Amino acid sequence: MTRQRRVGVLALQGAFALHAEALHEVGADPVEVRARDDMSGLDALVLPGGESTTIGHLLRTSGLWESLRTSVAAGLPLLGTCAGMIIAAREIVAPAPNDREPLGAIGISAHRNAFGRQVESFEADIEIDGLAGGPFHAVFIRAPVIEAWESDVSVLAWQNERAVMARQGSVLVCAFHPELTPDRRIHEMFVRMVPGEETT
Ligand code: GLN
Repeated sequence: MTRQRRVGVLALQGAFALHAEALHEVGADPVEVRARDDMSGLDALVLPGGESTTIGHLLRTSGLWESLRTSVAAGLPLLGTCAGMIIAAREIVAPAPNDREPLGAIGISAHRNAFGRQVESFEADIEIDGLAGGPFHAVFIRAPVIEAWESDVSVLAWQNERAVMARQGSVLVCAFHPELTPDRRIHEMFVRMVPGEETT
């Protein structure tokens, strides 16, 4: 038998509800995280899309920032999507004012709103390294790109020659919203990265 992974979904702002649904569908036990106590006993955490400046602000006012930093330093597996990728990054290249340090969970530099104002939102079929079953239909909403990355970061997908998905250790990030389509392969990929399987 396998133990269900308890996967937190940061639920301060943005697209968290559909992540919880997707996690449930791939066999994990999703938990909405709004306060420090919700972090206890998590096997992994999803940082959803939304508005990274707002989420960053709420992380600090809710008192979650410090426990998140501690958990990340201790190796908590993370999935960061869109704004969540920006928050997880080591560095933010921001066209807008950005006075907040990111989490530094993955050695990437994230460029906010990098597809430009004219292309606020678009969808594209992209090839993802290591994902069997053909291209993934990716929904980009005022999406960031991965502008630079450390040598041990693997870039897993590209859109218009720009890096849009990456992994370093147990941290996975994508610039698009995998929860908005019924394809669960990215959530499955993430949950499989999370240690915690026990056989009885
Ligand atoms: N543009 C947003 C930001 O900078 C991210 C958009 C999204 O998460 N869909 O936070």
